[in-house]
Amino acid sequence: PNRTLPPLPGLKLAPHRELEQAQQRGRLKCSSCGGSWMFFCYTCCSLVGVSQQEIPSVKLPIKIDIIKHPSEVDGKSTAIHAKILAPDDVTIYTYPCIPEYEDDTDKVVLVFPGPGSVSVEEMTWRLQNLADMKSAASPDEEPSPKRPRAEETPEAT
Ligand SMILES: [Zn+2]
Repeated sequence: PNRTLPPLPGLKLAPHRELEQAQQRGRLKCSSCGGSWMFFCYTCCSLVGVSQQEIPSVKLPIKIDIIKHPSEVDGKSTAIHAKILAPDDVTIYTYPCIPEYEDDTDKVVLVFPGPGSVSVEEMTWRLQNLADMKSAASPDEEPSPKRPRAEETPEAT
């Protein structure tokens, strides 16, 4: 790999004047839970002392469900940052509350470290091979490998 490449080539930084002003105002009460926070409430995932218009909103190419350990300290979690920046695509659950994925197992990827884990690169390679094997094994199926089904995303509840 070329080490001179920037790590985030497409990164665009939004102005952060709003955050500096919020920092000067200090901690404020969350309108939902009453907790005292700066920038956002870790419990409600809502902005505190910062307006939604001033915060960039990101549309992700995938849906992300974050399953938190019940003992994970909210203030240490970076899941909230993802939820605040991509509110339409990120949902946070606390174990044992986990969404049902049984009908979508071919579209769901579990990101978790473990002895059987593979790299994202290897996963992509494996999924492509699996798709190739499937289309070769059942030529009766729809000829187009890119079906519009990929547009469908399970509704998070
Ligand atoms: Zn709150």
